[in-house]
Amino acid sequence: MVSAAESQPTGDHYDLVILGGAFSGSSLGLLMRRQRPGTRVLILEKSEKFDRKVGESTSEVAGCFLTRVLGLSSYLAREHFQKNGLRLWFNKEGNDCPSACSEIGPFTQARFPTYQLDRSKLDTHLLGMADEEGCDVIRTASVKTFELDGAGKNTVTFKHDGMTRTVTADWIADCSGKAALIGRKRGTLRPLDGHPVHSMWVRFRNVTDLDSYKARMACEALDEMKTPVGRTRATNR
Ligand SMILES: Cc1cc2nc3c(=O)[nH]c(=O)nc-3n(C[C@H](O)[C@H](O)[C@H](O)COP(=O)(O)OP(=O)(O)OC[C@H]3O[C@@H](n4cnc5c(N)ncnc54)[C@H](O)[C@@H]3O)c2cc1C
Repeated sequence: MVSAAESQPTGDHYDLVILGGAFSGSSLGLLMRRQRPGTRVLILEKSEKFDRKVGESTSEVAGCFLTRVLGLSSYLAREHFQKNGLRLWFNKEGNDCPSACSEIGPFTQARFPTYQLDRSKLDTHLLGMADEEGCDVIRTASVKTFELDGAGKNTVTFKHDGMTRTVTADWIADCSGKAALIGRKRGTLRPLDGHPVHSMWVRFRNVTDLDSYKARMACEALDEMKTPVGRTRATNR
């Protein structure tokens, strides 16, 4: 644990200013404070509250990072869902009922932990941890401008509580997600015209649980599969 005095900034200068306080920003702040406890870290987060967002299903690598590196195993078990791998359904033309699909997916519980997350919850939790472990967190703080003038001479100007404030920083880390503040400023952000994709993200209610008695009774094939692992919490495609 870091003492409050240790986390106090010297004037308006920080070792590291992190732009954006969601998953990446909070994790970076936490790791900095844990590995170099004296580091003065400021996290600036624009939103008042985190939203749910795309990116709520972890891979094994991300699961490992959350549990082994950040130490969130118990928290994740309590507040989120363990994911049961990736399950693929292959439909036939004219019939996309699960009973007519071939199915590929794990038969047993996954060996490495992965999760179906609620990002608004996780991001809130992580930002709280970063605050507790000695990062200065300012929210709501919208970064307006910044200058990258080299180590120790960088400046960040942000708006908070109707006031505009400028801090200096040895390092600035861009964790602003698709806002990509540094990439845009430097002109290094380029659209991938050769890969024109869109995404849609929704939450459904009243979905029949694939592993329920009701589903098995309605669809004989689901009953016959006898998969012991819960399929509903897999990433089903
Ligand atoms: C379609 C799609 C599907 C995806 N699916 C998955 C998935 O299944 N699993 C997975 O792990 N990942 C997935 N991802 C990727 C995942 O969403 C991102 O990697 C992740 O959200 C990045 O987290 P982050 O903290 O870097 O950025 P974000 O979560 O985008 O957070 C950026 C933060 O910066 C703040 N911010 C922005 N501008 C400013 C500013 N001017 N001042 C202050 N703060 C600011 C924002 O308020 C926000 O809180 C998916 C992405 C897409 C597009």
